[in-house]
Amino acid sequence: MNTSLRLPGIDKAISIPQAEHGISRKQVSEAALRVVHALENAGFAAFLVGGCVRDLLLGLRPKDFDVATNARPEQIRRVFRRSRIIGRRFKIVHVRQGREIIEVTTFRGHHQAENRLGRKPSREQSQNLDSAHSHAGMTLLDNVYGDIDEDAARRDFTINALYCSAGRFEILDFHDGLRDLRERRLRMIGDARERYREDPVRMLRAVRFAVKLGLSMDDATGKPIRQLGQLLESAAAPRLFDELLKLFGGGHAEATFRQLREMGLDRILFSHRHPSPQHISDPADRLVELALRNTDSRIAKDLPVTPAFLLAALLWPALQQRLGPMPPPRTLAQIAECGERVVVEQAAHTTIPRRISFASRQIWELQHRLECRNRRAIAFSHEHPRFRAAYDFLLLREQSGEQLGGMGAWWTAFQQADKGEQATMLDELPGRSARKRRKRRGRRRATPERPA
Ligand code: ATP
Ligand code: MG
Repeated sequence: MNTSLRLPGIDKAISIPQAEHGISRKQVSEAALRVVHALENAGFAAFLVGGCVRDLLLGLRPKDFDVATNARPEQIRRVFRRSRIIGRRFKIVHVRQGREIIEVTTFRGHHQAENRLGRKPSREQSQNLDSAHSHAGMTLLDNVYGDIDEDAARRDFTINALYCSAGRFEILDFHDGLRDLRERRLRMIGDARERYREDPVRMLRAVRFAVKLGLSMDDATGKPIRQLGQLLESAAAPRLFDELLKLFGGGHAEATFRQLREMGLDRILFSHRHPSPQHISDPADRLVELALRNTDSRIAKDLPVTPAFLLAALLWPALQQRLGPMPPPRTLAQIAECGERVVVEQAAHTTIPRRISFASRQIWELQHRLECRNRRAIAFSHEHPRFRAAYDFLLLREQSGEQLGGMGAWWTAFQQADKGEQATMLDELPGRSARKRRKRRGRRRATPERPA
């Protein structure tokens, strides 16, 4: 039975047949299709939705496949044995199919059921409500169920509100998303200001999609961001960290950072960018750009990128700022202490999992050890599990214009040398008594080898 044919609200969409949109079923994950069919067989309506439909239309390979349905979370759970409800703000059901996890969401409705209905909601309607707002208009809890057209209106951008049925494989377009895709335009559904107030993270999503998909924001979508950026300070810190990884781990980190800066959002994401920019030394800023470019080219080559390295680079200007008043050469203890403060300050803003911030701090501290030309520091650094990351970071510092006395070239040669050549290189090191004393003083308060 095709339940979608008599689905309330479906008549509000333009339907585009497969022959016209040209996506093939073969491009869709089998797991996602299985989930849609299982829900339909259980008597519900279900569609592929969001980023996967958008990306397929753009000829890109979707990162994941999401499904929207009129089944309630508990009903979805009953259809799939291997599933669980996650999320508080939005209830989402994760359905496991082999190695894939498909995100299934119930159609969401409007918040103000009372206003829309012009009367107090009935008991049954009240049971559909599970939403709350903060004084600033931000949505705190958001489990109000509705029809498919309402679900479409609750999505962020027109290009993210396209639904694809599994049976006839037609696309349902409620907000002219297909035209926007064709014209390469990012357009918020509804009143953009209000939508950013409801959920400020949408501003970051706007930047991410515009850059990643090469779209231009229409004025109504782009302009309010410059005025409302500050609202991001009230967004949940763990969510901001997730978004940070998506912003800089999607293969377009350099352009995304530039766009964030252009819209004044970099200062909101990274608190150290608040104070007057003359405190930020030029090479540190250049290092951020180089690191992001590096990240993009690694992703283009399918090489892994580590969040710890990315974070060490993004927060390098903050560390330099903190170390600013301390005259060089800095001790390891000074670097460790400032590094910790930088990380704590940033984590208050955008949660940073401890294992990641710990590794970032090690990369910073290893910079000091790599610069120490004595045997013990060299042996310690060379055997350190983060040596490779720290060495790459050292090279970036030199490329960014920092004068390190040829340290990068020395380490490159040292790694390429055989044991005998390495011993000669160590013998040729200059005197080290003063540095050794400094190091001993400094090492006492450095980050321990394991996180507490
Ligand atoms: P990608 O997965 O490539 O990052 P996506 O569009 O699939 O892009 P998801 O975060 O997976 O993004 O969300 C899936 C869909 O849920 C979106 O396409 C959009 O329709 C809706 N959505 C996600 N976040 C929001 C939000 N903050 N406000 C409104 N709708 C949202
Ligand atoms: Mg997605």
